[in-house]
Amino acid sequence: MSHDPDCVFCKIVDGKIPSKKVHEDDELIVFHDIHPAAPVHLLIIPKEHVPTLFEATEAHEHLLGRMLLLAPKLAREHGAGNGFKALINAGADGGQEVYHLHVHLIGGPRPWGKLPL
Ligand code: AMP
Ligand code: ZN
Repeated sequence: MSHDPDCVFCKIVDGKIPSKKVHEDDELIVFHDIHPAAPVHLLIIPKEHVPTLFEATEAHEHLLGRMLLLAPKLAREHGAGNGFKALINAGADGGQEVYHLHVHLIGGPRPWGKLPL
């Protein structure tokens, strides 16, 4: 499995830097975003280091499906059962800051304003 020792999310996967983890399985982990943009703001990431959606291949089809299907389940469990956004930033013009693929799960009771994402 691809891994980047300098990647902040790989370090979270390894437990080398702390996170508020809410889900873990053999392929994925989910933790709270350190700068939440709404009452609920979780990051769903693969354990494998895939830098951006540009590097995802057909081999990741199942993984990507699992990441998306986890979003409504976690949204319900974390108080965003009334609605959420699932957002993937890809590349520089996509506003991506951490180059380890992730889905932002953003939601919870409004108002929470415009996204700074
Ligand atoms: P993006 O701009 O899509 O790459 O989003 C990266 C997200 O990761 C931002 O919302 C950051 O607040 C979040 N983030 C960066 N470092 C950490 C960290 N150590 N723990 C939790 N979230 C983080
Ligand atoms: Zn990584």
